Amino acid sequence: MNKIRVLIAKPGLDGHDRGALVIAQGLRDHGMEVIYTGLRQSPVQIAKTAVQEDVDIIGLSSLSGAHRTLFPKIIEALKEENASDITVIAGGVIPASDIPFLVAEGINKIFTSGSTIDEMAAYIKQHVGTKPSVSPKKISHIGIAVKSIESTLPFYTKTLGLELEGIEEVQSEQVKIAFLKIGESRLELLEALHDSSPIHKFILRNGEGIHHIALEVDDITARIREMTKHGIHFLNSDPKQGANQTQITFIHPRSAHGVLVELCEEVGGPNDEGHVR
Ligand code: ZN
Repeated sequence: MNKIRVLIAKPGLDGHDRGALVIAQGLRDHGMEVIYTGLRQSPVQIAKTAVQEDVDIIGLSSLSGAHRTLFPKIIEALKEENASDITVIAGGVIPASDIPFLVAEGINKIFTSGSTIDEMAAYIKQHVGTKPSVSPKKISHIGIAVKSIESTLPFYTKTLGLELEGIEEVQSEQVKIAFLKIGESRLELLEALHDSSPIHKFILRNGEGIHHIALEVDDITARIREMTKHGIHFLNSDPKQGANQTQITFIHPRSAHGVLVELCEEVGGPNDEGHVR
C-alpha cells in the first residue's frame, strides 16, 4: 500500500511550531508520510510544496488569528496550481464561530483544540484513503452491443480476420456473448436474450455500438472497497459471475465520466485448461 502523504503547514507570522510538530509525529505514528513546511510559509509556497510533494492532504495550523484571510488564500492558490483535489484540514486556535465561514471557503474539516490526533488520523484515513495499490493489468475486453451475433460475426471473422473463441450465454445478464481474440484482449459481441436484457434497452436508446470497456484486475473485492472509499459508485458492489470464469462488476457511468467501465477478475483455476473461452 502507498502511504498517505500529508503536508503540515503553518501559514502566517506566528512563531510557534511545537503543536504542528506534535501533530506531524502523531500522524507518522499512524503510518503516514508527513512533510512539514516550517514556519511562516505564504499561501502560494504552501500550495506549490503540496503539488511538488504530491500530497493527499494538507493540515493547516494557525495560532495567529489570521486564519480568516490566510486559509481562503491557500484554497485559492491550490486552484491556481490545479490541485483542488487535495483535501485541506485545519486546526489551531480557531473560534467555533469561524468554522462555517472556513468550511464555505473550502476547508474540508476544522479540528478544534479539544480534538485528538487519533480523531484526526481516523478522519484522514476515511477521507483520503490511499491510491490504489495495484492498477488494472490490461484491457480485458471491449463489449459491443449487437442486434444479432449471427449477422455481425462475418464482419469480425471474415472481413477483419479475427478468431472466434467461443459463444456463451450469461443468464444473470440475459445476454449471449461471442468472444473474438485480439492480442492479449478480446472483443465481446453482446446480444440480448430477452427484451428485459440491459443490452436490449441499450440498443433501443443508442443503437448498436460500443457498450463497455472491461479492465482486468487482481482481487476485485479489494478494488471495489478501495474505490468506494474514493467515492466511486458501482452498479453492483458485490462482484457477480461473468462470462469466461470471471467475477465482474460495473462502475456507475456517473462515476466514470460517461463510460460504462467493467472490472473483471479471472478466477478460473488450474482445471480451467481447455475450457472454451
Ligand atoms: Zn464485459
